[in-house]
Amino acid sequence: MKKITSVCPYCGAGCKLKLVVDNNRITRVEAANGVTNQNELCLKGYYGWDFLNDTRLLTPRLKQPMIRYRKDGPLEPVTWDEAIRYTAERLSDIKARYGSQAIMTTGSSRGTGNETNYVMQKFARAVLNTNNVDCCARVCHGPSVAGLQQTLGNGAMSNAIADIENSRCLLIFGYNCADSHPIVARRVLKAKQRGARIIVCDPRKIETARIADLHLQLNNGSNMALVNAFIHVLLEEELYDRAWVARHTEGLEALRETVKNYAPESVEGITGVPAAAIRQAMRLYCAAPSATVMWGMGVTQFGQAVDVVKGLSSLALLTGNLGREHVGVGPVRGQNNVQGACDMGVLPDHFPGYQRVDDPRTRAKFAAAWGVDPAAMDNKIGVRITDVPHLALEGKIKAYYIMGEDPLQTEADLGLVRRGIEALDLLIVQDIFMTKTAEKADVLLPATSWGEHGGIFTCADRGFQRFEQAITPRDDVRRDWQIISQIASAMGYPMHYDSNQQIWDEMRELCPLFYGATWEKIGEMGHLQWPCPTLEHPGTPWLYQGGRFDTPSGKGQLYAAPWRPPAEQPDADYPLVLCTVREVGHYSCRSMTGNCAALQTLADEPGFVAIHPQDAAPLGIKEDHLVRVASRRGEVFSRARLSERVNPGAVYMTYQWWIGACNELTQDNMDPVSHTPETKYCAVRLLPIADQ
Ligand code: SF4
Repeated sequence: MKKITSVCPYCGAGCKLKLVVDNNRITRVEAANGVTNQNELCLKGYYGWDFLNDTRLLTPRLKQPMIRYRKDGPLEPVTWDEAIRYTAERLSDIKARYGSQAIMTTGSSRGTGNETNYVMQKFARAVLNTNNVDCCARVCHGPSVAGLQQTLGNGAMSNAIADIENSRCLLIFGYNCADSHPIVARRVLKAKQRGARIIVCDPRKIETARIADLHLQLNNGSNMALVNAFIHVLLEEELYDRAWVARHTEGLEALRETVKNYAPESVEGITGVPAAAIRQAMRLYCAAPSATVMWGMGVTQFGQAVDVVKGLSSLALLTGNLGREHVGVGPVRGQNNVQGACDMGVLPDHFPGYQRVDDPRTRAKFAAAWGVDPAAMDNKIGVRITDVPHLALEGKIKAYYIMGEDPLQTEADLGLVRRGIEALDLLIVQDIFMTKTAEKADVLLPATSWGEHGGIFTCADRGFQRFEQAITPRDDVRRDWQIISQIASAMGYPMHYDSNQQIWDEMRELCPLFYGATWEKIGEMGHLQWPCPTLEHPGTPWLYQGGRFDTPSGKGQLYAAPWRPPAEQPDADYPLVLCTVREVGHYSCRSMTGNCAALQTLADEPGFVAIHPQDAAPLGIKEDHLVRVASRRGEVFSRARLSERVNPGAVYMTYQWWIGACNELTQDNMDPVSHTPETKYCAVRLLPIADQ
């Protein structure tokens, strides 16, 4: 029996754990003393591992490569040599016939690690010659990355998860940490126990609202109006830090002009929040000696998400709550390595280390390191994953190489996504399970799973953490970066790596932001936060020390924008708002947690629709009733959960339902900057199924 230190493969909290291994099987998990989790785990950490023992509960593990040679033919098992040859030949053919821009690739924000993401974006840029590489950050915290880069200079949490409990005020906006990141929720609870004031902005009475000093139960889709009202109060009541703002920020007068009509009293009809509560919230926030703003997908999954992120960072800028301990802005990233996928350049506009693709010197640097003709490097921003269905239907994307993502379960408006996938000439899926997307693949490439390989993840607070291999794979599966390298070589670009560390070192040499984060140092420190520019550098627990921002002028950019209502409003036919949410016992598309016996026992029906009793009664819907939920795009079945925690007029669904995902209902109105869809807001109706 042995104990292998690893990092939880689910959320961005980055909890460390020990996998107890006996005879190449995991027998249990113990909590480890990680910087973010301090010997605690949530139930996914404790019980989310037994898919590694092949429990076959929900979907089969992919065990050997398969090819569908004809569009209407079956998937046939093949050797790895044949899978690599066929994939390389088809990609080369499509590149030759339609050009580099006809191929789309994805990284993965899950168990594969930073090294694979680096190799995937290198494959896209050096072999396919396109910046068409993206990841699921696009559908979650893409707006946080874009908004914070513009206002502060870095698209990441400015502070550390471990420091949240030291802040004296937490403004928690659209973020249900108890379900999304239970171990971060422990930090919130500790902050409360230490006397912090808690302000929650959420339409639902989420867990954190129970301990909040103030709960602003805003109307769904009114985020920007509320943020503008916050800024209005800071300026009108002169609560902001005049000297700090003058020294460290730009844009005050434009900000003042934008929010002048957003007095809390004027926007009560939009926000649904009493003006007095908005004023009180800002007085609490400003009175605290240290304050932190935290947000989740209740901010980012709207058509006006980037503006709201910029507005939230302006609250911190106006009050000087940046650049020191115990303060900051914290978009707590969802998946365990979504921060890492972005760090490694699995983004259509950035090379690894957030170096822009439209900078000729940066392109020349990467071209030289990779042995590529600089003229062959794509100089345009590439395609985002949310644009793929549209471009595929227009015939502009012909091949899609998806690694460790399941868009046919997790992306908005699945009818549209399905039509886009069907229009492709070639769908390559590299994964560990037969997901909904994998079922449609022309080529299936089975990869090793978390637990079967090691590497480095970046958790939500920019912390690099190493995780180790615990068991030997039983099946004919290969490491993700090995598969990509073999396809690259078969396409005429020799690519070979012997280890994760070799890839990590190549990446570090090209990224000033990460250069000092050596493999050994990360191992010794256990958790090393970037920026880490030199070998002697200890890492950076909080960004913007002394109020120096990483913007072109070095100053924080103040920003607000007029509120825009969500794209689709309820009407007589579809009278309720649908908002998609998370549940504590399962993760994302459930491909991993759905294959864990203990988690299946805790939540044996994958999904629910939560509705207020006041809305349920006239429809004749009772607790546990099966109901049809319909939008203008589709219809699914779910089980009703009556709850006074949700607000009347809105219903809430998790998106793990396998017999008709809630994304059959959602719509793809996208934020114009980040291209993140508005999965938190569409119009639906509920119908009870008769004779229950
Ligand atoms: Fe920690 Fe998140 Fe894993 Fe739970 S799911 S153990 S909070 S990393």
